[in-house]
Parts: sequence; structure tokens; C-alpha cells
Amino acid sequence: MTLDPNVLVAALNAGRAYWGDWAEIFAERRVDTLVVLDDGKLDKLSAGEEAGLGVRVFVGKTAAYVYTSDFSRQAIVEALRLAHVAANQRVGQTGAFVAALDRGVAMRPLAHYRIMPDGVPLADKVAVVRAADRVARGAGAAIRQVTATYTDSIQDVTIINSLEEVAQDRRVRTMFNLTVVASENDVIQTAFESTGGLAGFEQVADGVSERLARAAAERALRMLRAQPAPAGVMPVVCAAVAGGVLVHEAMGHGMEADFNLPSKPMSVFAGKIGQPVASANVTIVDDGTIPGLNGTLGCDDEGTPAQRRVLIENGILKNYLHDRTTAREMGVAPNGSGRRQTFRHLPMPRMSNTLMLPSQDDPAAIIHSVARGLLVKQMGGGQVNIVSGEFVFKVQEAFLIENGQVTEPVRGATLIGNGPAVLKIIDRVGNDAGPTRIGMCGKYEQGAPVAHGIPTVRVPEIVVGGIVAGMSETMR
Ligand SMILES: [Zn+2]
Repeated sequence: MTLDPNVLVAALNAGRAYWGDWAEIFAERRVDTLVVLDDGKLDKLSAGEEAGLGVRVFVGKTAAYVYTSDFSRQAIVEALRLAHVAANQRVGQTGAFVAALDRGVAMRPLAHYRIMPDGVPLADKVAVVRAADRVARGAGAAIRQVTATYTDSIQDVTIINSLEEVAQDRRVRTMFNLTVVASENDVIQTAFESTGGLAGFEQVADGVSERLARAAAERALRMLRAQPAPAGVMPVVCAAVAGGVLVHEAMGHGMEADFNLPSKPMSVFAGKIGQPVASANVTIVDDGTIPGLNGTLGCDDEGTPAQRRVLIENGILKNYLHDRTTAREMGVAPNGSGRRQTFRHLPMPRMSNTLMLPSQDDPAAIIHSVARGLLVKQMGGGQVNIVSGEFVFKVQEAFLIENGQVTEPVRGATLIGNGPAVLKIIDRVGNDAGPTRIGMCGKYEQGAPVAHGIPTVRVPEIVVGGIVAGMSETMR
């Protein structure tokens, strides 16, 4: 097994007869560690390594994909042959595959980690979740349940194709999250905290997991004693610390190019490049290049270098997120959004780190501008239709705003709306920037690590409370 590009190129060349119009090899090796402490017991504990490669062959617009864990030249040539046969069987049309990439892209590994997680004893990783469990349970008798999860992964990829493009990337990610459930007098409150990024074990060391455990436990206890949230249409201020999960889920997915193809427009943003789709104070970027963030990549899983993509600039739709396939269909350059969960998966357009950028309003003045409304400090889980942007999100931590002042904490609020519609009515955008929050984005059953962030934002009217059925859950 090797990720040596020269060896893979030799195998690709040996199967030249089966390239069709364009052929690609994605080879991957990953080492993963997962430690889950549930209810005080080690529920899952695994450390595994796997390696494999996928071969994709295009005949015209038709792609076929074959993957294997066998890295021998013979196996790679056979995979090419099978993919070529499959692509030809499915095709009714021909035409050259035209890639917009420069030839010979050479990637440098991004070294943003100090402590390589594979050198850390498993006992130290278990200690991270045990410490968090102890701190959370110690916060109060009403803490009923604690689930703490540590994960790390070291993924090396090599991507080569029949245009002689070669890319290599190393992604080292370390993550920790915990869920705390508190209950008292028939009221149940759940709090969640997480950290993670393109970073080593230092991401969770030195008391980080204890600090997050304390924050989550204290929030759960605080919300336990909060009054039920008011329901109805009201102004909502999302604090910068709340993160941009709504921007990612209810707005960002709609800007993935596979939902915007002229041949199959599904998104409300389809055909609207250059047109206003949001308030003039809204600028949203998806930036895969920010050091250390969870969605950061050296190159995407098709070998395109990670980029900063301006999706909406001052309210105007500027770009979609493209992989090679959508870029070809729309006659533009791929912009580094082709991601796949593993070598078993075909790439598709995905977000990386999705950020709404600061504007000009003072965050305190934004709160003062609200006569009666809700201040959201932490989002909870939600359901969203990623194509239409219809969403229902639970709010984990919220406060009333009365006469421009933040007053009582309130529990049980949900936000209900439509992402593209919300974009158009956002009327205040703060000059601050929150910490980015992390997530595991789900799309068509494929997970991808991402991050998101916002400044303080005011939505003048949004439905708070209520229940809407029939939507699929995505990010957790
Ligand atoms: Zn997502």
C-alpha cells in the first residue's frame, strides 16, 4: 500500500486504455481514534487504520466509480477497466471532459498541529473524556446524564488524474464534544459543547474538556430554572457566540452548485448569480484556507487547492460551491469544494468553513434596538430542508430582550423559518465576529467536518416556537 504519486501514476498509465475522457485515482489512508464515555461507562473505544482507493472514469458526462483496498497495479488497472465498462454502459452521449484546473498542482501539507494524536497514549485520550464527565457531574445533583466523545483522525490523500495533475494533502483533526442532560421537576434541559479543528491533541489538552464540561453543565442547570420561552413572531438577535449553524444549514447548502445546475435547478439561488439575494449588509464566504479550522483543507478531494469563495457580497450572489463536475457543466473553474467522506464515496460540492462577515453595527446597540424579542446565545439541534432552506431549530440558550435590555433566560424556544427569506430581512449585522463552531455536515449520507461563524445579527421578524413535521435532520 502506498500513497506515492509516482507509483499511482505508473498504475494509471498502465490502464491508459480505460481512461475514457478523463480518469482519476483518489487514494487515502486514515488512522482514527474514537473514545465515547456514556453515563460514566466507556461505551465505545476504537482505534483503526484503513486505506483504499477509488477510480473514477468519465465517458462524456457519465462517470463510473470503482473502489478497492488493493493498491497493486493489477488491481488498479482492473478497477479502471470496470469503471470504463460501467461508464460506457450508462452513456448515451459522448464529449470530452474538460477540466479547468492547471496541470501539476503540488500541495504542501498544512502543518497546524503541535501534538500528533497518534503519538498520544490511548489512556490520555480516555482521561480527556473522564475529566469532562467528572466536572459535569460535579456541577449539580440535577445533572442526570453526560456523554463525552473524543475523536482524532489522521488522513493522508493522494489524488492523480489523466491530465497529469497530482495533489497530496494531510488532514489531522482532533475533536471533543459532550452532551449534558439536566432534569428537575419534570423539566429536562440539554446542553452541548464542542471543540475541534485541523489540529493535534493540543486542541483538547490542558483542561479544555473540563472547561467545556463546566460551561455545558452550568448552562443546562441555568436553563432548567428558566421560564418557558414566549411564542409568536418577534425580533431575534443571534449573538456572535451562537455560531452560524443556520447560515450553513438553511443558506449555505442552497449555494452548492449541484443544487443550482441549469439542467436541474433545485435551489432558490439557481440562476441568480449577480442578483440581490440578501440584505446589503450581508456578506457570506466559505473559506477552506483558514489555519486550524475544522473545515480547512490543503486541497479538496479532487485535488483542487482549497480556496476562499465569496458566496454573497453585500447582498449580491457571487458564487456557487463547485466540484469538477458542476464546474464543467456550468463552464467555470472548480473552486475547491469537491469533498468525499472516504475513498468509497464519490465527491460532491460541500462547504468548508462558512462565515458571515462582520458589518458596521455595534452589538450592544443591536440589542438596545429591540423593544421585545429574543437573544439567542446557543443554538441546539435542528431540522432543515437543505435545498429549500426551510428550518426548525431548537435554541439551547436564550434570553428575553425587554426595552432594549437583556433580562430573563428562557427555555424551549425554537426558530422556524426559511433561510433564503431570512437573508433578505436581516437588518442589523454587528462589527464583531464570533468564535467559529464546529459541526459534522451531512449530505446524501456523507459526513464532512465543517465550521461556521457569524457576527451579532438581528432578524426583525421570525417565528418563535411551534412544531413543523416532515423535515430531515442534518448537522449534529
Ligand atoms: Zn450541512
